[in-house]
Amino acid sequence: MKLTTLPEEFIQAIPVIKKIEEAGFEAYFVGGSVRDVLLNHPIHDVDIATSAFPAEIKALFARTIDVGIEHGTVLVLTEESQYEITTFRTESTYQDFRRPDKVQFVRSLEEDLKRRDFTINALALRENGEIVDLFDGLSDLENRTLRAVGNPHERFHEDALRMMRGLRFVSQLGFELEFNTLTAIKENHTLLEKISIERIHIEFIKLLLGDYRNSSIRAFFETECYQYCPGFRAMGEALLKFSELPEQPIPTESQAWALLLDTFETPAKEVASFLKKWKCSNQTIQETQQLLWGLSKRKAAWWDKMTVYELGLDKSLAVEELLIYYGQEARMAETKELSDNLSIHSLSELEVNGNELMQFLDKSPGKWLSQTIRACEMAVVNGELLNDKQVLLTYAKEQL
Ligand code: ATP
Ligand code: MG
Repeated sequence: MKLTTLPEEFIQAIPVIKKIEEAGFEAYFVGGSVRDVLLNHPIHDVDIATSAFPAEIKALFARTIDVGIEHGTVLVLTEESQYEITTFRTESTYQDFRRPDKVQFVRSLEEDLKRRDFTINALALRENGEIVDLFDGLSDLENRTLRAVGNPHERFHEDALRMMRGLRFVSQLGFELEFNTLTAIKENHTLLEKISIERIHIEFIKLLLGDYRNSSIRAFFETECYQYCPGFRAMGEALLKFSELPEQPIPTESQAWALLLDTFETPAKEVASFLKKWKCSNQTIQETQQLLWGLSKRKAAWWDKMTVYELGLDKSLAVEELLIYYGQEARMAETKELSDNLSIHSLSELEVNGNELMQFLDKSPGKWLSQTIRACEMAVVNGELLNDKQVLLTYAKEQL
């Protein structure tokens, strides 16, 4: 098969490939970008594989960066862009079902494509548009099938993360796992225990954010892979419930966790420790907690001003979007209007501060101060008081 038109991202990289070829080596576009072009999906990163060894690539180009030279990857910088160029390699002596402990550079494209996970990810594209398809990836693309390259048992034993990758491609592409590949995942799901949470996390988030999340979550359940994900062991039923939410893509990681943990009915005080086990960033943990807090309020009633104030506009809108999954309408414009109309949006906008209060009331700092500021803040947000220094000082005096 030959592509007659290439996307701009590939066309820009053609001089790089030509230069490698003119030096007597082979070079191809490989990996997800080739798959995505054939699916008419937007492409993220253009990966190039070559028979040239890293030192040979570095000798050819003026500007390069060693980003992963031990894996054979050199970053080549051009005027317009930058490309990861990776030497053909095989991965040998896998131990503990994790990444290979040795990579061996080879001169053969076939050897390189053989070690890739799924047939649709094992296609190579020549600079002239010709597709190299050694494992029937094109027909699997056509039939929307995810099939391991070679023997799926062996491939999942080499690197158990591939099982999670398979599930995430189900979610991103809407493909089905081929029977033997699916069976091998069921039979080998316990191997996930050996995989670092960090690697599982990357794939699981892509799974949660995919367009075909629900069928993927069902496969995640049926293959029992979920059993080896932190905090999920007792959550089989809840996962199925989660897979029955409306099939609407979830915009962000924090929203995905909020929706999942709400379905799991995880108590608020256990949310942080759950997400820590998944090695989520502190920002994600905090955001998820806030979304869950807002969601519990918003599911029960329309916003009150104080909640929107505490969450801020972005998170209030993020909560609003979550209502869709509960069969409610997301009232984005009204939420924004409410937020816009708040008399203040943060404590710094309050017309009185701690020093002024202490001076005016002639008191030294203490618990009364934070309580009084909080009372002023709430009264202003709720529209009970004007945000005016004299008004607030008088109010504070009355409070004491
Ligand atoms: P995305 O669009 O999310 O980047 P991708 O298919 O490009 O998807 P990457 O993780 O960027 O995924 O990997 C690039 C390529 O490297 C894959 O297409 C596949 O050929 C190969 N690959 C990545 N991870 C593995 C793995 N664990 N086992 C075998 N091959 C892999
Ligand atoms: Mg990629």
